[in-house]
Amino acid sequence: MIVPNAHVAETPAYALADLSVTDGMRAISMAQNESLRPPSPAALAASRAAVEHDHLYPDPDWVELRAAIADVHGIAPGNLLCGAGSMELIVAVAHAFAGPGRRVLSSQYAYALFQSAARFVQSGYDAAKEDDFVVDVDALLAAVRADTRVVFIANPANPTGTHIPNEALRRLHANLADDVLLVIDEAYGEFTDAHQEPLFDLVDRGNVVVLRTFSKAYGLAGARVGWGAFPIAVRDEVRKLLNPNNVSAASQAAATKAMLDQSYMRVTVDQTIDLRDTFIGDLRTLGLQTTDSQTNFALIQFGSEARALRVEAAMRAQGIIMRPMGGYDLPWCLRATLVDRADMQIVTTRLAELTRRSSC
Ligand SMILES: *Cc1c(COP(=O)(O)O)cnc(C)c1O
Repeated sequence: MIVPNAHVAETPAYALADLSVTDGMRAISMAQNESLRPPSPAALAASRAAVEHDHLYPDPDWVELRAAIADVHGIAPGNLLCGAGSMELIVAVAHAFAGPGRRVLSSQYAYALFQSAARFVQSGYDAAKEDDFVVDVDALLAAVRADTRVVFIANPANPTGTHIPNEALRRLHANLADDVLLVIDEAYGEFTDAHQEPLFDLVDRGNVVVLRTFSKAYGLAGARVGWGAFPIAVRDEVRKLLNPNNVSAASQAAATKAMLDQSYMRVTVDQTIDLRDTFIGDLRTLGLQTTDSQTNFALIQFGSEARALRVEAAMRAQGIIMRPMGGYDLPWCLRATLVDRADMQIVTTRLAELTRRSSC
């Protein structure tokens, strides 16, 4: 009999979104925080051209992509690593710096992959309480143990959508010992009001990593490209754990052009923020509570798990897919990614009809 390692057998399968709707029905997916519009045309053209060379391995050092990121963000290319999504980088960081006899710390409603990554490497995991769905730096500091080696914080956070000021992260860092690696996951960084605020300077301190992705604001979720700014010594260890040819040539080409087309990304972000503010206002008008999201999604509270699941089922029956949050200990909530203006109108209308019905 084939026997898996015990810690793998005990790890639950990663909870992916259920994207099924009735056969033939057009789906409006609000389940995966994808962009409401496709990537920059320049990115798509570069990706198509790169496919012509698919008999060759991609650049294992992501030279052009790193140069583009370095240019736009004012980071030295040597500090950058690229991953098959930032998910690859998160798991590699856990492999390198967490593990048996070590602990990972994150926040109460943290991104699920942080805990999964801790499990993959047989690390302990702690979660610090949040203050009304917002990361609480004092609670995090109080939860640091002698064997805590990695702290993962997404800012803005998923699934709460909330944001803490960079000053709070600087204070968190200032109070961590220098053998604790602080990983700041800015997957939604482009959507914050403060997205210009630089935090990359913290990387020079030796124990901070800042992660970003092309999956959200750049509309390249399907290309699987994430990146991070790493202190050199940390970079060297994480690099050993990445698949040597992890990002396809087409994806590198697309991401490079997408990074260089900042104005296209800004339009995506502006449209998203505009629709988000309208949607949040509409939700509150309907009497639904929602956090002050600084991302491309809203976390909607329905008071009870039963009502959240009724709404989820009724919306899905009409082709609209929202994400149940039971896996995040938020069973009374649904997470809904912003979609384009026409579809948002359909969603808001259907949601208004449903919430007015006493049966829902
Ligand atoms: C979407 C997301 C990511 C990005 O994942 P990719 O692998 O880059 O697609 C990372 N962190 C958080 C918190 C996310 O929500």
